[in-house]
Amino acid sequence: MKEEFIEEEAKNENGLNFVEQEIVNDLAAGKNGGRLNTRFPPEPNGYLHIGHAKAFIMDFGAAEKFGGTCNLRFDDTNPQKEDTEYVEAIKEDIHWLGYDWGDRLYYASDYFPQLFDLAVRMIKEGKAYVDEQTSEQIAAQKGTPTVPGQNSPFRDRPIEENLDLFMRMNKGEFDEGAMVLRAKIDMASDNMHFRDPIMYRIIKTPHWRTGTDWKVYPMYDFAHGQSDYFEGVTHSICTLEFVPHRPLYEYFVRELADDSYCPRQIEFNRLNLTYTVMSKRKLLQLVKEGLVNGWDDPRMPTLRGLRRRGYTPSSIKDFVNRIGYTKYEALNHIELLEHSVREDLNKTATRVSVIQNPVKLILTNYPEDKTETMVMDNNPEDLSAGQHEMPFSRELWIERDDFMENPPKKFFRLSPDKEVRLKGAYIIKCTGVKKNENGEIEEIYAEYDPETRSGLPGADRKVKGTLHWVSAPTAVDAEIRDYDRLFSVENPSAEEGDFRDLLNPDSLKIRTNAKIEPWLAERIKAGDHYQFQRLGYYVVDPDTTPDHPVFNKTIGLKDTWAKIANKG
Ligand code: ATP
Ligand code: MG
Repeated sequence: MKEEFIEEEAKNENGLNFVEQEIVNDLAAGKNGGRLNTRFPPEPNGYLHIGHAKAFIMDFGAAEKFGGTCNLRFDDTNPQKEDTEYVEAIKEDIHWLGYDWGDRLYYASDYFPQLFDLAVRMIKEGKAYVDEQTSEQIAAQKGTPTVPGQNSPFRDRPIEENLDLFMRMNKGEFDEGAMVLRAKIDMASDNMHFRDPIMYRIIKTPHWRTGTDWKVYPMYDFAHGQSDYFEGVTHSICTLEFVPHRPLYEYFVRELADDSYCPRQIEFNRLNLTYTVMSKRKLLQLVKEGLVNGWDDPRMPTLRGLRRRGYTPSSIKDFVNRIGYTKYEALNHIELLEHSVREDLNKTATRVSVIQNPVKLILTNYPEDKTETMVMDNNPEDLSAGQHEMPFSRELWIERDDFMENPPKKFFRLSPDKEVRLKGAYIIKCTGVKKNENGEIEEIYAEYDPETRSGLPGADRKVKGTLHWVSAPTAVDAEIRDYDRLFSVENPSAEEGDFRDLLNPDSLKIRTNAKIEPWLAERIKAGDHYQFQRLGYYVVDPDTTPDHPVFNKTIGLKDTWAKIANKG
């Protein structure tokens, strides 16, 4: 797949993507009095996902970069699907990524009166009519891109009759679906959206902001451009599926705009991510059917899911910047997002010792009553991050995987009669094991070499393997939630059949007896990021309590992006 590498080509010599170049050109040409005003227009019918982030990073980012403003406008034109729960969550998620709309918070429902007035004016000018056909009949008359549509039998009804019916539609005299208001444009247009598009439909569900004031609600195409206009938006940036809508956007805006100010629509490619789905409908289904644990499940591509998983705002922005904004669709590899978060956390995450699948290691020649204090760097990438202390004793926990009784040739971890270094401590040599009645290893025995304590003279003897460890008497038990891809196929949306059948059955593994070092146990706070030595990056989950630390695995240490990038 080549699309991911367009990021270089997608920017001009000033490092601007094509949307930014258009903005710069418009500003230089003095359009709209040299003003820049963008908007982010979420529909409050779901939580924001990383695709929405790509959109609002552009909207808020361009405003910041070129001295403009960005409005947050809730596109609340369909009371059947919308909810205040989503409004608050959307605001929170935008703030999380570091953007703010200031006093520029708007709702499409603010413009219901002006939109209604415009519709009435268009009826009076013979540009709109009430159609009493069913939606099936209207669809059947629409034609195809190569076959012109047919005129509705109601298309030429007298203006007075249209006006009367539209007023009565809004008074609630007719049932939902009984009639619609359509623009009278051209049933033979090459652009299907021009074939007498619907402007208003009847909805009787009360609106969460305007209550029962309205019984007719504007369609997206009749609301969006005009809302941009009412707000003074100059650049209405959206995704490519709106390209065919653009002529209609311009058609309705022309009913209002003059030469001094006119908003324009610019479209860029959506973000699509491998191993997940981005459709709000499908995400809602996963939540409603309990296939994930809510909108903030760490496997979800929602911003709250990513946050809970341990993704950082800067890693998401970095990823969006790398994939760039272009005019052609692409499927973006999740490994690149993982690469971005790994790079970010490598710089900032404190290193700690945690054993996720513990087995006891006993140093038979180490005195029973002795403990020493070892000193560990908090972040070798950033020595200003300081150090912390870790107790060392005769009984330790190590990873079960780090021991093999009959190892293959290149196994440099622990096995009988072999030596390894315990990180930041001593070189040890394995002397034997104890097994239970099922043949499972219960304890591993070793002897330490007192001459090899890290950092002391004479400690430079080299061995091939280094293991992490946690001192057993002071270790604290913790839960680790280990996540994998939500779907088991790369592009679930491209597959036939039910997308739910493609869910990865092993996307969550819970370990309840991980052992963490005491220094970490003392400072656990939800949302804090750590690198567990040799295991990966982890974040403290909000389910954590003082007695029961819970961590989510953000991502492992091994970067799989380079391999994919080189295949391109
Ligand atoms: P729907 O309209 O079907 O409910 P939506 O995902 O388009 O779903 P909106 O709330 O309308 O939801 O989206 C707000 C903005 O986010 C729109 O401008 C839309 O173009 C943009 N957006 C949505 N999905 C993506 C995506 N995957 N990549 C980039 N931008 C997106
Ligand atoms: Mg949409």
